[in-house]
Amino acid sequence: YAAKHSGQGTAFFSPELAAGRQQRLSLEAKLHHALTAGELQLNYQPVWELDSGRIIAVEALLRWRDDEGHMISPATFIPVAEEIGLMGALSEWVIEEAARQLASWREAGLELTMGVNLSVSQLQGPEAARAIHDQIVALGSDPRWWLLELTEEAVMKTPEAVMEAMRLLSDAGFRLALDDFGRGYSSLARLQAMPLHTLKIDKLFVDSLQEEVPDDRVVRTVVELARQFSLRVVAEGIEHIEQAQQLAKMGCSFGQGFWVSPAIPASEIPALMQGRVSPMH
Ligand code: C2E
Ligand code: MG
Ligand code: MG
Ligand code: MG
Repeated sequence: YAAKHSGQGTAFFSPELAAGRQQRLSLEAKLHHALTAGELQLNYQPVWELDSGRIIAVEALLRWRDDEGHMISPATFIPVAEEIGLMGALSEWVIEEAARQLASWREAGLELTMGVNLSVSQLQGPEAARAIHDQIVALGSDPRWWLLELTEEAVMKTPEAVMEAMRLLSDAGFRLALDDFGRGYSSLARLQAMPLHTLKIDKLFVDSLQEEVPDDRVVRTVVELARQFSLRVVAEGIEHIEQAQQLAKMGCSFGQGFWVSPAIPASEIPALMQGRVSPMH
């Protein structure tokens, strides 16, 4: 690409690009290793009810500390896992780990919903959906305790096979969420046809509430859309109490963000649930 568009035949071999390619190759090799070497971990970010301050759910988020101790972001390694065909194994690991954690919290009396992010590449058809269902049930979990998150962007680009998988999961009792909502290009026809439970408003629009020239139009529109479709709304990326207050006033019921907590190790969740978030009303 660089060589073609820069007008310089040498651009493709620039040291920067060579380094990028090298980094990429080593990332692929390291990722294979990470999965078996126990370098991956799930951290959990709480989701709370804005009105009551009650923590009702957590979202499981992948963390990878490589053998040199560097934290690598899922935004960096998930696309690589996708390209090298490692997403299936990775998703299986995530579900198993999250299911075990959920079972242990439920045994301790914590009534949490478990949110996990799925890639649409893992949902190509009914067999894939059945595999997820069977894995979760085999681990002693009830599908109704789960929120399966798919990004709006991915779902809207996706073939009918994924819709079929979503319907099967929903019929089995799983709750489904569109993640990063507002960033993709939702077709209202698709939205109407999908068995959704939750819309997660992207952080971008929660940020807009706090800008120098505040803009609440997208949040208001999504809340109204959700009301019409009888869906739950979760606002992502709440970093300030003012945002939580505004969101609650606009009719958004649930929130997630650094204002309460980033994703943390499972062992820290019970203590966080004891002290409650300050209610908005
Ligand atoms: P996501 O599912 O939208 O997850 C929310 C992201 O926003 C997380 O980033 C979280 O740490 C971040 N976040 C939450 N609240 C705040 C806040 O108040 N401020 C800021 N600055 N950030 C906040 P993270 O953990 O880096 O994950 C990035 C994305 O990687 C996720 O976005 C999700 O799409 C993907 N991902 C993470 N774990 C998994 C996984 O197990 N499977 C799949 N397929 N994707 C995953
Ligand atoms: Mg998510
Ligand atoms: Mg999101
Ligand atoms: Mg995201």
